[in-house]
Amino acid sequence: MAARLAACRGRAGPVAALGRLRDPCRRWSGAQAADTVYDVVVSGGGLVGAAMACALGYDSHFRDKKILLLEGGPKKVMEKLPETYSNRVSSISPGSATLLSSFGAWDHISKMRHRAFRRMQVWDACSEALIMFDRDNLEDMGYIVENDVILHALTTQLEAVSDRVTVLYRSKAVGYTRPAPFPMVDSSPWVQITLSDGSTLQTKLLIGADGHNSGVRQAAGIPNVSWNYDQSAVVATLHLSEAAENDVAWQRFLPSGPIALLPLSDTLSSLVWSTSHEHAAELVSMDEEQFVDAINSAFWSDANHTDFIDSAGTILQQAIGLLKPTKVSARQLPPSVARVEATSRVLFPLGLGHAAEYVRPRVALIGDAAHRVHPLAGQGVNMGFGDVSSLAHHLSMAAFDGKDLGGMSHLTGYETDRQRHNTALLAATDLLKRLYSTSAAPLVLLRTWGLQATNAVSPLKEQIMAFASQ
Ligand SMILES: Cc1cc2nc3c(=O)[nH]c(=O)nc-3n(C[C@H](O)[C@H](O)[C@H](O)COP(=O)(O)OP(=O)(O)OC[C@H]3O[C@@H](n4cnc5c(N)ncnc54)[C@H](O)[C@@H]3O)c2cc1C
Repeated sequence: MAARLAACRGRAGPVAALGRLRDPCRRWSGAQAADTVYDVVVSGGGLVGAAMACALGYDSHFRDKKILLLEGGPKKVMEKLPETYSNRVSSISPGSATLLSSFGAWDHISKMRHRAFRRMQVWDACSEALIMFDRDNLEDMGYIVENDVILHALTTQLEAVSDRVTVLYRSKAVGYTRPAPFPMVDSSPWVQITLSDGSTLQTKLLIGADGHNSGVRQAAGIPNVSWNYDQSAVVATLHLSEAAENDVAWQRFLPSGPIALLPLSDTLSSLVWSTSHEHAAELVSMDEEQFVDAINSAFWSDANHTDFIDSAGTILQQAIGLLKPTKVSARQLPPSVARVEATSRVLFPLGLGHAAEYVRPRVALIGDAAHRVHPLAGQGVNMGFGDVSSLAHHLSMAAFDGKDLGGMSHLTGYETDRQRHNTALLAATDLLKRLYSTSAAPLVLLRTWGLQATNAVSPLKEQIMAFASQ
């Protein structure tokens, strides 16, 4: 099957593709009459795939289109918001919140629960260097939301457009086939999808939202650059020692990896601690008291400081003070942790991945299927929501113009938009991961000065915040 797809994976230029795809239905409708035909099939109903189906389902130019969302897992129904917070949370950017609002999902999230954060402190365990992101007008910098709450909001909104969007749960796609085009025919055949129960269906556009091991990407023969990091992330729900305003996202770079504390409520925060696989395994199996001590020490201890780096950092800080005698944020200490929610400790191996292409004729990749990123920047699902926003925009324009949805002219528009943004973020995140995974003095000095200088230059900080807010 992959070979068949590979045989016809050559990309036609936009003008050629438009001509070639003008009326694919005529040629194929007879031979394919037995299968149900959809305009768009989204394979994978995680956060990104479900958001894609919503974005199309609520688009006025898609009113007469048939959309299918395929999800291999069961439908996750939340009858009532559980009292206990889930250990899987995401930091959601204002740009993602805007997307979710555009089809009504953010209203549900607001009514259920989320926590806004207004500041973010990132600091180095090997020096005094820090960067504090905040907004003068106390605008929200982002929101910490449980993944289950986001998915529930998306599912609710999908149910409201069930006349346009069909959702099949426990329906795993096991094969994707695109018959080789006839050389003499001005058409591009549709993609055929085989489900695990043996049934088949067809679509003019297949959107792969099936995660970092994407079957759609593999079947389309799209090369993927990927590697595993030497780290796993431990997540857990933490009870703070005392109630606090708790509107700051904290992240400290330890030589073994970054540890982050994300606010959930006045008394609860969520932990994402990236560290070596061995240490991560220890952290999830140690007793509760040891685990809590390890977290507090990771945030508070200065054991990795050296006099040399501290002095060099002080000199630069004083020089900055002379050049720019405005107040530079002082390091603040995060709240201390009292205990961990029972059974909330879980680990996830981490890796990076990037698809060389996001589109092929009749195929587009979104979310982790197109890019997988280290969680240190809290951007994985935000990048995916950015993909949804861009692809939905390009498809909406194509539908308005009466174009074939699987045509390359608008798909390459999507690819160009998103690769520009995503490659920059992937590269920056990978560089940060490497730069901070060492306590070697020259690199510690380099990053200490870099962080101090960035913290002192407000326009640069604002640009970073604007980029991360998308
Ligand atoms: C510890 C950790 C913390 C993170 N924190 C953040 C954060 O704070 N902010 C942020 O933006 N990102 C964060 N991320 C990243 C974020 O979780 C991912 O980027 C995001 O969940 C990817 O969503 P997705 O829908 O693309 O893929 P997935 O969540 O992998 O969903 C893929 C879906 O496709 C389905 N599927 C797969 N194959 C098939 C098939 N053949 N047929 C049908 N269905 C199929 C699966 O069942 C699944 O539901 C974090 C990641 C980790 C590991």
